[in-house]
Amino acid sequence: MASKRKASKKKAKKSAAKSTPKAEPKKSSAKKEPTSSAKKAKAGGKSSSKNAVKKAATKASKKSTAKASKKAAAKGRVRKKSAVVETKVVDASAKTAKVAAPAEKAKKTTSKKAAKAKPEPKPEEKKVEEKNHRLRSQPVEVQEIDVRIARERYSRIKPFTPRSFGPDPKKGPKPNDLRDTLNRNMGKALPLSARNRPSTVVELGIFAIFALGAKSAKAALEATKRCVTNFADWNEFRISEPYEFCEFLEDLNIPELYDRCERVLHFVGDVYQDMNEVTLEHLRDCTPDDRLELLSRYQSLGPALTHYLGLAIQDFEGVIFHYSWARVGQRSGVLGRSNSPKTLGANLMKAFKGNDLLSVQVNMIELGEEICTSVRPNCKSCCLVQMCVNRKV
Ligand code: SF4
Repeated sequence: MASKRKASKKKAKKSAAKSTPKAEPKKSSAKKEPTSSAKKAKAGGKSSSKNAVKKAATKASKKSTAKASKKAAAKGRVRKKSAVVETKVVDASAKTAKVAAPAEKAKKTTSKKAAKAKPEPKPEEKKVEEKNHRLRSQPVEVQEIDVRIARERYSRIKPFTPRSFGPDPKKGPKPNDLRDTLNRNMGKALPLSARNRPSTVVELGIFAIFALGAKSAKAALEATKRCVTNFADWNEFRISEPYEFCEFLEDLNIPELYDRCERVLHFVGDVYQDMNEVTLEHLRDCTPDDRLELLSRYQSLGPALTHYLGLAIQDFEGVIFHYSWARVGQRSGVLGRSNSPKTLGANLMKAFKGNDLLSVQVNMIELGEEICTSVRPNCKSCCLVQMCVNRKV
C-alpha cells in the first residue's frame, strides 16, 4: 500500500510539473543583489578605513600635544631665566642703593652745614630776589617795559614819609584839601584852551605825556610842536632815539625830559603797531568808555595818561568813571558809598563843583593804581593818610 501511495505521489508531481510553466533561472537577480557574505566584506572594509582615520587623528593630536608641551617647557625656561635676570637686577639696584645711601647722607650733612653757614635772607631781600627772578623768567621786552613803567611811576608819586600820622580823622576830608594835597605831591594834569589845542589825537597824546605833572602847558605844547616839525614824517620820528629829542627840547625845562621822550617814542610806536599808521582819529567818534578801553591797550600810556588823553579828546572836561578814582574817593571819605558809576560820577562833580576835575581824576587814578590798591593798600606811603577816614596804619 505504501509503495502504491509513493508511486501516486510521484505521478502527481510529474503531472503538476508538466502543467505549470518552467521557472526562469535566477542568474541576473543573483548578480544584482549582493550576498550577505559580500555585505559583510564591504562593512569590514569601511570599518578598517575608519579605524585608520582615527589612528591618524590620534597620532596628529599626540604630535601637537607633544609640540605644545615642548613650547610650554621652553617658555617656562625663558620665564625662569627672565626671573633670574630680574632678581639679579634687583640685587644690583639694592647694592647701588646701599652704596648711594652714605653719599646722600654726606650730601645732606654738607647742605645742612651750608645752610648753617649762610644766614637766611631778610624779607626785603627775599622780595627783591623774587622780583628779579620773575623779571628774569619774562621775555626781554616785557622786562624792559616793567622796569620803565616802574621808573616812570616812581618819578610821578614822590615818597611820602610824614613825621607822625596824627589822630584818626573822624570826618572825611574837604574836597579842596584833598585836591591840593594830591596836586602838591603828584603835580597837575594841565588843560589847554581850544585855540591852542593840537589838531590830531596823536599830537594830543604827545602833549599829555609832556604836560602830566609838569609846570607849564605852554612848554608842553611847544615840545609837541617841535617833535612834529623836526622830523620829515612819522617813520623818521619812530626810528629816532630819545636823546635826539632831548637835544631840541632842553631849553623848555620839562622835568624828567629823557623819560618823557622815551615814552613819546613808545606811544607812537604802539600806535603804529596797532593801526599800521600813526593816527587815532577814530577815537573822536567813540563813547568815552570805549575810548578808554581802546587806549588802555597801549602799555606806554598807563591808566592815568589814558584817562588824561580820554578827557583831552572831550575838551579836557567832564567825568569818566574809573574804578581807581572811585576807590580812593570812597575810602578817603570825600565821596559817599555807592555801587553805581553814574551816582559816583555825579557825586564827584558835586563835591569838586567842576573845579580842576581833570587833575583830581588823573591823580586819584594814579594813587589808586599804585598805593590805594584794592587789596592791601599801602596807607603808610599814601599822601592822604592824615585825612583818610579808612586808613590802616
Ligand atoms: S591808601 Fe590808605 S590812607 Fe590812602 S586813601 Fe587808601 S585807604 Fe586812605
